[in-house]
Amino acid sequence: MINYDREKEIAFQAVKEAALLCRRVQNEITPDTLEKKDKSPVTVADFGSQALICRRLAEAFPDDPVIAEEDSKALRRPENARLLQQVLWHVRKFYPAADEKQVCDWIDHGNAAEYSKRFWTLDPIDGTKGFLRSEQYAVALALIADGEIQVSALACPNLATQNGKSGGTIFLAQRDKGAYEYPMNDSGSFRSILVSQTENSRNAKLCESVESGHSSHSDSAVISRNLQIVIQPVRLDSQAKYAAVARGQADIYLRLPTSSDYREKIWDHAGGWLIVKEAGGEVTDISGKPLDFTHGKILRENRGVIVTNSLLHDAVLTAVKKAGIV
Ligand code: AMP
Ligand code: MG
Repeated sequence: MINYDREKEIAFQAVKEAALLCRRVQNEITPDTLEKKDKSPVTVADFGSQALICRRLAEAFPDDPVIAEEDSKALRRPENARLLQQVLWHVRKFYPAADEKQVCDWIDHGNAAEYSKRFWTLDPIDGTKGFLRSEQYAVALALIADGEIQVSALACPNLATQNGKSGGTIFLAQRDKGAYEYPMNDSGSFRSILVSQTENSRNAKLCESVESGHSSHSDSAVISRNLQIVIQPVRLDSQAKYAAVARGQADIYLRLPTSSDYREKIWDHAGGWLIVKEAGGEVTDISGKPLDFTHGKILRENRGVIVTNSLLHDAVLTAVKKAGIV
């Protein structure tokens, strides 16, 4: 069996550094930024996060392609010089000698698009709307080798640890070696996480996207009724939903297609997938098929995503079918 301990360590350090950058940018958001509907903070953090993570991956594993969400094309345009300066300013907090070209080159290290035998996938900021609202967002990184997710690191800077420590949580998993959470401010301490034991769907806690454009709220209401769920759904942005199921705070996460042609992006799921699986949960698409990460940027062979504590998975798939969604 190949040992991925080094990959796990680098992934952890990479998402941690990026999450610290994101937090610094988020601290600069003022009511004025929000009033002007100024989206530049999330753009700066998105590029800065990708630059830092790709820099580490390029240094540690130069031959590994990275399929990441952003590229630097727009950032290199003269009209965006100010934006690039802002990204550089934040990156220099970590790498004082960095220059504009390096930052753009690091970002573009994440420009792979095709499936390969071994590659990383990265969402530098998942849940951009949550970031702007100062709610949940995540930095999500995963290593896929031979079509299987081997390592994943998911930083949730606005999520407290399970024992209530504020200051953010980093989730880390390695295939067949369990899932763990680390307080972002004190990486020395960690604890193993497990999904819930909820067996009766009536008592299930369900979570879903805040954005009804990303997951149908009306279909989830029908499914909840089919499952006789009595508790109101919790809505939160980003792969923090995978984390909620992985540590038993939620029992079900539904991502229900809002159109027939949308295909989920791999970086929106790869990080969360391994955390949930290693915590004992189950992840499939809405028809019960496993997610297939072997088609480049998209989950071409899948529609929607269903995440559960495993015990409830069959019941949820039956309820989805009954709702006429598949
Ligand atoms: P969430 O925070 O769970 O609502 O998910 C955020 C992610 O939704 C973003 O990273 C986008 O890649 C993704 N997204 C954008 N449009 C759609 C869509 N129509 N259906 C599902 N996901 C989408
Ligand atoms: Mg995303």
